[in-house]
Amino acid sequence: MGIEPYFVADAVVGIIAQRLVRKLCKNCKVSRKTTEHEMKFLGITRARNIHDAKGCPACNNTGYKGRLGVHEILFIDEDIKELIQKRVSTEEIRKLAESKGMLSLYDTCREAVLNGNTTIRELASIIYEDE
Ligand SMILES: [Zn+2]
Repeated sequence: MGIEPYFVADAVVGIIAQRLVRKLCKNCKVSRKTTEHEMKFLGITRARNIHDAKGCPACNNTGYKGRLGVHEILFIDEDIKELIQKRVSTEEIRKLAESKGMLSLYDTCREAVLNGNTTIRELASIIYEDE
């Protein structure tokens, strides 16, 4: 962004990233058990019920209705500040933040999948868009 690292580290207390995912239509979403592959992707060891989009008149046959914000919040504490000042990679900052309990976009979206609010496809779309 062309901003000096010391400036960010001193002035910013947190950074929020947000993505919008499509919300499943409550009228027609279809429940099913997770596959082995999906269990791996979701980091679960027991099969759970998740939902697929189907489509009905209420959602113009898209299977989705509305959007849902998923987010991650990075709090810039002394340790994170130090890393920013050292100009380390984003990955290193992320690693430390997650070890301190930061919930990532993946984590919050994964919850939305397991709660039946969105699909595993939507989760995959936010995970792979950055790569
Ligand atoms: Zn529908």
